Amino acid sequence: MIIFEGKAVFEGVAIGKLSIYKKTETAVKREKVDDVEAEIKRYENAREMAVEQLQALHDKAVKEVGESGAEIFEAHQLMVEDGDYIDSVENIIRTEEVNAEFAVAETGDNFRKMFLEMDDEYFRGRAADVKDITERIVNCLAGGGSAGIESDEPVIVVADDLAPSETVQMDKDKILSFVTVHGSANSHTSILAKTMNIPAIIGCDIPLTDEMDGKEAIVDGFEGKVYIEPDTEILEEKKKIVQREQEKKALLEQLKGKENITLDGQKINLYANIGNTKDLALVLKNDAGGIGLFRSEFIYLGSEDYPTEDEQFVIYKQVAQTLAGKKVIIRTLDIGADKQADYFQLPHEENPAMGLRAIRICLTRPEIFKTQLRAILRASAFGKISIMFPMIISVDEVKKIKEIVSEVKKELDSDGISYDKDIELGIMIETPAAVMVADELAEEVDFFSVGTNDLTQYTLAIDRQNQSLDSFYDPHHPAILRMLKMIVDAAHRHNAWAGICGELGADLSLTREFLAMGFDELSVSPGRILPIRKTVLETNVSEYLKEKHS
Ligand code: PEP
Ligand code: MG
Repeated sequence: MIIFEGKAVFEGVAIGKLSIYKKTETAVKREKVDDVEAEIKRYENAREMAVEQLQALHDKAVKEVGESGAEIFEAHQLMVEDGDYIDSVENIIRTEEVNAEFAVAETGDNFRKMFLEMDDEYFRGRAADVKDITERIVNCLAGGGSAGIESDEPVIVVADDLAPSETVQMDKDKILSFVTVHGSANSHTSILAKTMNIPAIIGCDIPLTDEMDGKEAIVDGFEGKVYIEPDTEILEEKKKIVQREQEKKALLEQLKGKENITLDGQKINLYANIGNTKDLALVLKNDAGGIGLFRSEFIYLGSEDYPTEDEQFVIYKQVAQTLAGKKVIIRTLDIGADKQADYFQLPHEENPAMGLRAIRICLTRPEIFKTQLRAILRASAFGKISIMFPMIISVDEVKKIKEIVSEVKKELDSDGISYDKDIELGIMIETPAAVMVADELAEEVDFFSVGTNDLTQYTLAIDRQNQSLDSFYDPHHPAILRMLKMIVDAAHRHNAWAGICGELGADLSLTREFLAMGFDELSVSPGRILPIRKTVLETNVSEYLKEKHS
């Protein structure tokens, strides 16, 4: 038995096989070869493998999302077999007497640059496809096959780090736990683990070798340990913990259907955070009162190109209909920083967290924003949708947003398309600037939802992605807690309601404090709803306040 330690970011115990996650981006070295013809043969084989993989992906996509969603894989097959691309690779192998990996990477780079320099937006968009197929062929040359999880049974995913665009592509039913070598406690991988209610460990020095792949292991998200090939004794001990956890869950089940009300009669809404429609089952299973944060950017991250109005409409409508009249708060696109989609072609930035992201992209590229707003408004005819805007810093921004929303509404009116005319509009409070002008902002909107993940990052000047700063990242800092009180008071002064949708909302040690502050809503990972309901039911707010001030 070998034990590796890391930092637990979500509790629980998982028992299963390890699956070493293979990145599509394989580091490519330039190597001299003696037998160029053999190298060209290797390239041919890799190309065949890539085409087969793309065919399999195409067939899977047809079944899951229909013919139009699968077209991209057909296009990629054509690119793999493109004559100019093949000529270029073979020419580099022959003239430079180098390995196929290098020749493919060089060709991919040249073609990508060529596409990026074209005037036509369509062709510029193809640069991302060239990168994709190039990485696929390089990966096939490494014999690694397709990226991601290849097992048929659920596994413990072990990776160096995972970008949101990678996690979005994973088949969630196949994941028992996440273990990463890098990554920070506040990254979206951690958030994903919380949504899925599975144990996760970061900062774990586990070797990402083929030898590790498939080994039996235990991930203990309470103590932050991974046991490889565990002893019988440890295995039995951990199985007991799994059983205990299941019993705890069964007890929480009994709270389903109960109102979220304190012993002295204060009510609070408990909503769920989701990233895509696959999370809806968890929302219903955990008896959420609604959806307090639908991170709509995951639709964009899971796409090869800008999702169309209709594609988005279908998703928002499905969410609204599934929630059957319960509130669904859709946050508009919050892309940028760690959430990157190649086809946006965002400029390279020194400080992406402080860069062109979220609402800033929407206001500078209103055509993208309007497409999304039209889709959300159209879906609002099928349920109770609210719209929420991220990364707000000023009243001016909110006024501009409201103008754009009015324009889109007018367009829908003139097209005779129905939507909820009284749709609620709210903003995320996740910058210190928004906290300072909260009174003025509250006059403009129906609600606030505090994004404590970013509010902590921007208030404490600590990059939430930087693992080495985790010990400084303190969302319990008095500055944050005071801000939370300022936010809720400002909202209530202007008849707006206030909630929290950042990770802090799920912190059970603060539930009583949030109730005492007067928050109207907490939106958390679905699996957190019942434990918070339990705390709410056991709380007496006036007693708590007396205790606190005595
Ligand atoms: C937040 O910043 O707290 C938040 C909820 O948004 P995200 O984590 O998606 O940035
Ligand atoms: Mg945020």
